[in-house]
Amino acid sequence: MKIESVRGWNESVGLTRPYSIAGRRIEAVSLFYVEVVTEDDVGIGSASPSESVTGESAAACGDALAVAADVLRGEDVTRIGRLQQLLETHLGETPAARAAIDMALWDVFAKGLGVPVVDLWGARRDEPIATSITVGIQSVEQAMADAEEYLQRGFRCLKIKIGDDFAADMERLGALRALADETAGEGQVAIRVDGNHGFDLEELRRLADGAHRLGVELVEQPVPPAADDELCALPDDTRALLAADESLVEERHAVGLLRGMPYRHWNLKLMKHGGPTPARAIAHLAHTAGLGLMWGCMDESVASIAAALHAAYASPATERLDLDGSFDLADDRAVGGFRLENGRLHLLDEPGLGVAWA
Ligand SMILES: [Mg+2]
Repeated sequence: MKIESVRGWNESVGLTRPYSIAGRRIEAVSLFYVEVVTEDDVGIGSASPSESVTGESAAACGDALAVAADVLRGEDVTRIGRLQQLLETHLGETPAARAAIDMALWDVFAKGLGVPVVDLWGARRDEPIATSITVGIQSVEQAMADAEEYLQRGFRCLKIKIGDDFAADMERLGALRALADETAGEGQVAIRVDGNHGFDLEELRRLADGAHRLGVELVEQPVPPAADDELCALPDDTRALLAADESLVEERHAVGLLRGMPYRHWNLKLMKHGGPTPARAIAHLAHTAGLGLMWGCMDESVASIAAALHAAYASPATERLDLDGSFDLADDRAVGGFRLENGRLHLLDEPGLGVAWA
């Protein structure tokens, strides 16, 4: 299974549902696609670098993929442990590029064995999990229109971005709970919130009261990472709601979060951690510590969403999915990977990641 070539290229992919973040309108995303070619197979991967999350620019990601091509050419895929080490050494500073190559290597390795990647990584879970779909920061009317559409499409788990304005957040949250109960039946829709570190501790206490009242199951990253230690003083029923996102980027952060355990849930993203291999190391720590995992994403190709899903379904610590990142891409170069049915994500029973070029 000798690697003949590694190829990566960049494409700007339009979004069918543009959104705003910090006053900026996002109409397209810059994605990288990767293929690792052996004599018999092609491994597929994709990167979605984010300068604001990991400091990785598109240029740095592209450069790293070129380095990977040089380093991996002529190597044998069956020595996948050695190849992971090469990625850690040469692509450690560019986690999205590393993620794309990491998943492509696993894809081509598993294809060579004729098995789905999930079966190499763990005992595959039988029941598919519902993914949340995100309602962005917008007017109550627009948020409710989006939520109603998602509920009609069969989604039963909604994530709403909050943290700009406490009163407006609570108003949208109350309206969302009422709409969800009315459309799908009382308590049938799980609601999560992402604070994107927009809260202080006092606001978080009030948010937790509202969350319990409105049946919110998860509060993602309410405070900045620097304030994590303060969370340890909160009552148990509040901490039970909290999930780390921005506080958990590198593996060493996971080790830090085991001290005092400010969060009971960790949100893992392949693009933050550097691919399925480092993400699975973090997942193992979470499982050992009795923490629950949610697998999240950026705006991403189905190729990398599929890789996250394989990792998620292989980990006994997985409780939640937030893998909605490919739903709004206008023109994804990759297809397959999973099937979306009534808001649940099903893996395909195909070798590798089950992804193909369109
Ligand atoms: Mg988040």
